[in-house]
Amino acid sequence: MAKYDYDLFVIGAGSGGVRAARLAALSGAKVAVAEEHRVGGTCVIRGCVPKKFMVYASEFAHHFKTAEGYGWTVEGARFDWPAFIAEKDKEIARLSGIYVRNLQNAGAELVHSRVTVVDPHTVESAEKGRVTAERILIATGGRPWMPKELTGVEHAITSNEAFHLPTLPKSIVIAGGGYIAIEFAGIFNGLGVDTTIVHRGPNLLRGFDDDVRAHVAEEMEKRGIKVLLGTQHKSIEKLGEGRFVSHFISGHHCESEVVMFALGREPYTQGLGLENAGVKLSENGAVVVDEYSKTNVDSIWAVGDVTDRINLTPVAIREGHAFADTEFYGRPTTFDHEMVASAVFSQPPIGSVGLSEADARHKYGKVDIYLTRFRPMKYAFTGGDERCLMKLVVDAATDRVVGCHVVGPDGPEMIQMAAIAMKMGSTKAQWDATCAVHPTLAEELVTLREKHVPPGLGQAA
Ligand code: NDP
Repeated sequence: MAKYDYDLFVIGAGSGGVRAARLAALSGAKVAVAEEHRVGGTCVIRGCVPKKFMVYASEFAHHFKTAEGYGWTVEGARFDWPAFIAEKDKEIARLSGIYVRNLQNAGAELVHSRVTVVDPHTVESAEKGRVTAERILIATGGRPWMPKELTGVEHAITSNEAFHLPTLPKSIVIAGGGYIAIEFAGIFNGLGVDTTIVHRGPNLLRGFDDDVRAHVAEEMEKRGIKVLLGTQHKSIEKLGEGRFVSHFISGHHCESEVVMFALGREPYTQGLGLENAGVKLSENGAVVVDEYSKTNVDSIWAVGDVTDRINLTPVAIREGHAFADTEFYGRPTTFDHEMVASAVFSQPPIGSVGLSEADARHKYGKVDIYLTRFRPMKYAFTGGDERCLMKLVVDAATDRVVGCHVVGPDGPEMIQMAAIAMKMGSTKAQWDATCAVHPTLAEELVTLREKHVPPGLGQAA
């Protein structure tokens, strides 16, 4: 008789957990995967996927404007929020169903229940009671963080609720300057909502290249988003149903129908019982793991946002995959967290991979910068002054391209290709030797010849 009920018990059926569970089960292992909500996790249910649909929906307003420049008459265009939400939910349900089927086809058992850890080899749930497993994988992801002590915080929604608003508000105040805040600012603004974004820092998107940050804020403002920097909420006051006033520490205030907080996400480890097994957590509650995603407890691993390494879906998938390779296929595998590209689906969107100019200067000392800002050809007839930005950061000593940043249409699509070249350690000379595809925006990436000298740095930079 087997020593344990399962070879692997996965807690959380999101991107990382599902990949690990499916691969482990396909190896012939006896696997269970537990999910307290819907299978698919943040990405599919209340993150990347529905967000991208919302971005698509909202971009039409901009397309209609561009179309007019090309001679189209776009009359009577109206947006039906409830119809869109219903379609979106249908598609999300379909995708969640595919995840369930893939797990079942692989032979993994699905446990629709919240699970807690009892000891290094035992978990407990309402559906299964106490069961034992040789290995336990924590893949519970993250949750929106809220400043609980802030007066009136209960009136604010998070991205979770933004996906299910019963009606489209006329106005919204969004707090935060990260991925989620600026993506939703673009979405609501595109859908005609009077949108204000308020962020405590001097510019949006801390951690991104400074030119990118300044450019995005400028372009967002050009599209009508009000960007309030250097301040944050002091309180939220409810005036009536769907009427709130955001009071900021600067003394200013702003009335809106909805207040949304996007102030970061926290690892979802609360109440999971990890202390019963002696699993080490970091100060913010993230599960501490080594390069094989193993915790300090020999039988417990963790992947994805719950480990707070790089909180992106494809990273969670690769971590889950590497875990399964290592533990169930006899192929010790680690995931390399270097040069992970990411996209921000702001409007305009951002694609970014590698180092910002500031980080590259810090790391390499002397770097060469190639920078261009121009009006995308598509907008030639619109009369607007939208600009696209492309920037390459090159280590001067080796000529290696160590940073690539694009703000503009299709930036996220371009960056995937750039990431391949950069992961291969390619040099600027090799980018230059690559023949351009014309006429595209992307061709700028292989035709940037002149070094950009940032003001104040002179040639010594
Ligand atoms: P981020 O960490 O990206 O941004 C959080 C923002 O909230 C920052 O601007 C931060 O400011 C601000 N903030 C944090 N604490 C406070 C506070 N106490 N008071 C005021 N402001 C505060 O978090 P998000 O919630 O936007 O997204 C979470 C993560 O999800 C992202 O980091 C990303 O990894 C992932 N994600 C990825 C997406 C993609 O790939 N397209 C899309 C959405 C999410 P400061 O900079 O000053 O710290």
